[in-house]
Amino acid sequence: MQVEPFTFNPFMTNCYLCHDQGEAVLIDASCDAEAECAQVKEVIEEYGLDVRHLLLTHAHVDHIFGCRFFEEQFGQRFKAHEAAVPFIERAEEQAAAFGVEVDPPSMPTTFLAEGDTIPFGDVTLEVLYTPGHSPDSISFVHRPSRQAITGDVLFQNSIGRTQGLPETSRAQLLDAITEKLLPLGDDVTIYPGHGPTTTIGQERAQNPFVQEALQQ
Ligand SMILES: [Zn+2]
Ligand SMILES: [Zn+2]
Repeated sequence: MQVEPFTFNPFMTNCYLCHDQGEAVLIDASCDAEAECAQVKEVIEEYGLDVRHLLLTHAHVDHIFGCRFFEEQFGQRFKAHEAAVPFIERAEEQAAAFGVEVDPPSMPTTFLAEGDTIPFGDVTLEVLYTPGHSPDSISFVHRPSRQAITGDVLFQNSIGRTQGLPETSRAQLLDAITEKLLPLGDDVTIYPGHGPTTTIGQERAQNPFVQEALQQ
């Protein structure tokens, strides 16, 4: 599985295009301007990819700016955890609180939960439920290639925010990291919602929040 990372919008939110054998999934359409969405579209066209699934790690406003563009482009809706529903319903409100505007995505008709699988190319992504930063946080894992797209759960030297946001739980977040992500193995590459790509091993060794969680 090849992963093409992009970073978009004033919140510097990552968007990932994962592809294999000419088929792709788009995870978190964070592009908030037509020019940003066009960048992703260009790569899709350059590789001649058939986009099979549009996916959200969670529905915080900085991850959904470009959803409408890709829904219309590919004639399909984003798939998300069902706890994303109230966040999508309140997306415009959520955006206004941050001083930005959003054209919210259509309500998902397919919801994802722990253990679900997402096939494309020769790849089957596995869904892990990793709440805490938000109640709808999920991660997408491809064990054979040792890669995981984890949204706002684990960052390089940091973790997802649990203050000033609705329905967060720091304890749940630390549990998600120690019980779901760390067991994936130190050689697994993590593609986070913000900041640079890292690995489980690097975060186990250096991340103060992970070390705090492990001591509990
Ligand atoms: Zn978030
Ligand atoms: Zn985010």
